[in-house]
Amino acid sequence: MKVYLDNNATTPVDPLVLEAMLPYFVDKFGNAASRNHSFGWEAEQAVDAARAQIADLIGADPKEIIWTSGATEGNNIAVKGVAEMYADKGRHIITQVTEHKAVIDPCNYVGKHGYRVTFLPVDRTGLIDLQQLADAITDDTILVSIMHGNNEIGTLQPIAQIGRLCKERGVFFHTDCCQTFGKVPLNVEEMGIDLLTASGHKIHGPKGIGAMYIRRKRPRVRCAPLIHGGGHERGMRSGTLNVPCIVGMGRAAEICGRQMDTEPARIAALRDRLKNGILSQLDEVFLNGHPTGRTPTNLNLSFSYVEGESLMMAFDDIAVSSGSACTSASLEPSYVLKALGVGEELAHSSIRFSLGRFNTEEEIDYTIERVVAAVKRLREMSPLYELAQEGIDLSTVKWGEH
Ligand SMILES: *Cc1c(COP(=O)(O)O)cnc(C)c1O
Repeated sequence: MKVYLDNNATTPVDPLVLEAMLPYFVDKFGNAASRNHSFGWEAEQAVDAARAQIADLIGADPKEIIWTSGATEGNNIAVKGVAEMYADKGRHIITQVTEHKAVIDPCNYVGKHGYRVTFLPVDRTGLIDLQQLADAITDDTILVSIMHGNNEIGTLQPIAQIGRLCKERGVFFHTDCCQTFGKVPLNVEEMGIDLLTASGHKIHGPKGIGAMYIRRKRPRVRCAPLIHGGGHERGMRSGTLNVPCIVGMGRAAEICGRQMDTEPARIAALRDRLKNGILSQLDEVFLNGHPTGRTPTNLNLSFSYVEGESLMMAFDDIAVSSGSACTSASLEPSYVLKALGVGEELAHSSIRFSLGRFNTEEEIDYTIERVVAAVKRLREMSPLYELAQEGIDLSTVKWGEH
């Protein structure tokens, strides 16, 4: 058996999505910007239908949806596009330490070009403090960018409250919703969202396509383009539209919408089955992220006395992620876990299990069996675990440099 539990990284394309895309490669290949023949109109109609499918899922007007190459580009447009467009209004941006790199890096970029960026800290569960956010907003603040569901730890930020606060203070609110778009009900009006980014391949759509919501009224938001040439997408993102992938992402969003009442609950139940199955058979396993306020797909656990990398190798038929990111030469613990205050040892022993539409109960039970056996076996070989079992307090042991 091979089990895929890395759905926060990417998801398989749903066969229904592929089926919707296929005609747009060969038969209906028109350029959506060709206004003078039926090939173009056909493509444009398909793009407009997909725009409506995205808009429907978040309570937006289809005119407010912009196509991008993915959420990385969307986040760049939000941060750099707003920074450039509103430079005369202010030069301060607020975000948080646990954002995806696709928000952190553009923020650092504008930070090097005359803007001030505040990175809000998070608590042990991954939540920002709303009072700290309110205190950070100044007359110079133009944008608050806080993600909805965290990709590593699953924590859900209270975006409706953040949106309300931003409205009161007259600041634009952007939210990276890659991990919640199609998985958690979203409404840009009720949540006071001005800019939102989503990605096709996180919702069983194709890779290399993303959608962005950019508010058109109350207030109107404009973003300076990153890519110039032709003025497509209301001038904010030029380039010939990727019609097959757009059709695919639209269809993927539509399927998520139709299943919203049942599917997130089914996935959350599988996720809880996995958690309970592991926790009931192993001691010294810790949940990272918020205990209840988390995305339905995400389970992040730290297994004391076991290295995440070794653990992943021990069950190589199950695809997961570890809490250590292999950056260039060194194996650094995840900056997200670090920000929560998870110690280095526990960060290195963390595993992210992330579930999706095609996971079954059978797969979860198999995973529980494999994980429990692997952790027990690795712990048996761990001198640290042996010491701890003998009642020696490891925090009092002096370790050499490492
Ligand atoms: C996957 C992901 C991204 C990047 O999306 P791409 O479409 O792959 O560029 C950004 N933010 C979050 C939270 C993600 O999970």
